[in-house]
Amino acid sequence: MPAWSPLVFEMVTASAVMLEMWERVLSPAQRADVAEGLGAADERSARLVAGFLAGVSRVGHACPAQMASFGAGRGASPDWERACAVWREQAVKAGLPLPPPGSRIRHAAPEHVTAAVLPRLTGCDCPGFVDGERCRAEAHQGLYTAAYALNRRGADVLHADTVAKAYRATGGAPWDAIRVALVDGVARYVGIEAGSLPSLIGPSDPLSLTAFSGLVSQSVALSRGDAAGDAASPHEEWEAMTHRAKLLARSAVGRMA
Ligand SMILES: [Zn+2]
Repeated sequence: MPAWSPLVFEMVTASAVMLEMWERVLSPAQRADVAEGLGAADERSARLVAGFLAGVSRVGHACPAQMASFGAGRGASPDWERACAVWREQAVKAGLPLPPPGSRIRHAAPEHVTAAVLPRLTGCDCPGFVDGERCRAEAHQGLYTAAYALNRRGADVLHADTVAKAYRATGGAPWDAIRVALVDGVARYVGIEAGSLPSLIGPSDPLSLTAFSGLVSQSVALSRGDAAGDAASPHEEWEAMTHRAKLLARSAVGRMA
């Protein structure tokens, strides 16, 4: 994923929003509730992990179906169409493995793709892993609980079959590399190692993450720009982009606080 992609920017912004909300909006009781639900050792690491998970909750958008239809349905003004065409051209040039126009693409809801890929990106490196299957390592079960709890609609808990099906829409190795880069970018912004998640959290009950998944949705909603102008430019450096994300998060959360 090129650093200037709107997805990178939105993911980092979602992290920034969660970190800001933690400081300025959440009550002590809410912080304690999230920390306990995540099974975090203390509130400091709970805050960082919450920020990290809010950002990576959208990693499932980095898959062929989502990226091939990038910008579709966001209002078809000629300017927007043009911006999308430019984006596509630059993305391909920057190495995004977009399927050629007209090719057959497998579809799955991006939140299901997130659930399918996230445990492997956050510390589960167990061998013998087959598409979408959960590993049996005790220490990694929390990764699955957390990944399945993100992007949850209402009280529904994701079914393992749904996730396994989504695994077929991930796009395979070329897209794995993109997702690793995205997750590492978010981790770098937050200041944790993506692979260290099993040592930081251990949620056991998806239902105790209900309030947390609501906060994740809120962070994501506040991070999503609605104009092509919100996207970073191909020449923007990491520091400039993350600075912009922080400012955007600050003003969005400032309006809530
Ligand atoms: Zn594992």
